[in-house]
Amino acid sequence: MIKNILVLGAGSAGLIAAISLRRKLPQLAIRVVRSPEIGVIGVGEGTTPNFPKHIFDYLGITRKRFHELAEPTWKLGIRFLWGPRGRFDYTFDQQLDCQWSDLPMPNGYYCDEDFRCASVPSALMWLGKAFMRQPDGCPDIQGWHAFHIENKKFVDVLEIVARENGVEFIDGKVTGSERLPEGGIAAVHLEDGRRIEADFFIDSSGFRSELLGRALEEPFVSFDRSLFCDRAVVGGWDRTTEPILPYTTAETMDAGWAWQIEHEHHINRGYVYSSQAISDDEAAAEFLRKNPKAPSSPRVVKFRSGCYRRQWVENVVAIGNAGGFVEPLEATALMIVCGNVQALVEMLTRSALTPTPTWRALFNDLAAQSWTDIRDFLALHYKLNTATDTPFWRHCVADTDVSSIAGLLEFYAENGPTGFCRYRLPRTENDFGIEGYLVMLVGNRAPYAAKHFAKGSERQLWEGRRAAFISAAQGGMDVRETLAYIRHPGWTWNAEAKPDAGTVTVHQGR
Ligand SMILES: Cc1cc2nc3c(=O)[nH]c(=O)nc-3n(C[C@H](O)[C@H](O)[C@H](O)COP(=O)(O)OP(=O)(O)OC[C@H]3O[C@@H](n4cnc5c(N)ncnc54)[C@H](O)[C@@H]3O)c2cc1C
Repeated sequence: MIKNILVLGAGSAGLIAAISLRRKLPQLAIRVVRSPEIGVIGVGEGTTPNFPKHIFDYLGITRKRFHELAEPTWKLGIRFLWGPRGRFDYTFDQQLDCQWSDLPMPNGYYCDEDFRCASVPSALMWLGKAFMRQPDGCPDIQGWHAFHIENKKFVDVLEIVARENGVEFIDGKVTGSERLPEGGIAAVHLEDGRRIEADFFIDSSGFRSELLGRALEEPFVSFDRSLFCDRAVVGGWDRTTEPILPYTTAETMDAGWAWQIEHEHHINRGYVYSSQAISDDEAAAEFLRKNPKAPSSPRVVKFRSGCYRRQWVENVVAIGNAGGFVEPLEATALMIVCGNVQALVEMLTRSALTPTPTWRALFNDLAAQSWTDIRDFLALHYKLNTATDTPFWRHCVADTDVSSIAGLLEFYAENGPTGFCRYRLPRTENDFGIEGYLVMLVGNRAPYAAKHFAKGSERQLWEGRRAAFISAAQGGMDVRETLAYIRHPGWTWNAEAKPDAGTVTVHQGR
């Protein structure tokens, strides 16, 4: 039976794992070993809606405290400056996988010419607003949001919460490990000669993958046939007069794309590119041309997209970059960290802390399916972007491997943006849902045969609805005003009273 766990690494992945384990299985002793010399990766600042749910409902960090300590801003989705339209918005609600009862077709068929403001959140995004206003003037903070959060600040918050939950920290660099005769790891060795034993190990050592990759030599499965980017230049600047946008921006570049992530006092930009298509110096030069306020020598981060064949081997589970990573186009890393941690905790609970090989195999199958879904979804972004005529983008359109979603693409090419497309996804319980795929297909104007030409009253109904969303969103409030509300001493988060409630509806501010 597992009694004590050693987490190797105190980045966001290791700390989310440590706190989750302590909270849900308090009988376990949890220690974290980390190397201050190596530090944390320092990037990873966009999230998805499962992140607030995990932080608030699973880790039990209150909204009040999280906002005070971590100072996040809200993210309603991603604005893509991408494809033949030049611009479209991917929100966390349903824009396309839905149909109005008084219209004969699902929403996607009305968005061929103009894919804007097909829901309230997308109208808010369009107008740079974060939330609607309640009748009393307070922000109506709905659940369809994620956060932008500074990596180092987030890690500091997690460390405070981990210590409060009884997690023990050990500073030291792991330089080796001891194997058990029956397989797995018995102990790790630190540079200063200390030896740390545990029954079970979480490898959250980032790209170094000290235990799963280095010690256990689990093979790495590369996604390089689908995702060609392998580096980023990163650099931001302090905000002056720029508005705080309620979304991440993903903008096409000559040999990849650039993110813009919005913090209250800082704007973070990064250019993700393929080292086969462009040199680091050329990438930095293009980045600086577009972002003259960025530091003149932006930092280069190298990565590879892919995952280890199994993430749970013997008594080692890798969580975070140590188990796998795909480039940051949809900011999925923390999403998969939260999902894998929850699966692990549930499996350890159900197996009474004595997990058998069938639990391991199930965990590995579920994790592999998630990685494959993410790979395919990101690959589609590249395959569909026909607008940029550079060698890199011509290569993406011609050669990106999307063979595992070929059935979906064939069905769409004939039938268009119907919700029936979901049955052509390899798995119906896909993390992005058919909504994500439809947004990419419609957003990039992927051609399809069964066009629907709405005229007369039908068109008027659709346009009237969109105008109503825009008009409602015009009364909404931006990020700055919302921050002022939630920082007012009279503000209360009503979900605090029931930490496990799934909602984030907010009542009465000032
Ligand atoms: C360019 C880029 C952009 C990204 N953008 C996003 C994004 O927008 N959203 C998102 O969710 N994710 C993003 N990510 C992923 C992000 O890095 C991870 O989500 C997140 O930060 C988790 O990192 P980690 O904890 O796995 O690793 P790290 O932060 O690297 O932490 C590793 C830990 O292990 C310790 N360690 C390593 N080796 C040893 C050793 N030998 N001995 C002792 N300690 C050791 C380190 O000291 C550190 O504490 C991005 C990644 C890249 C490369």
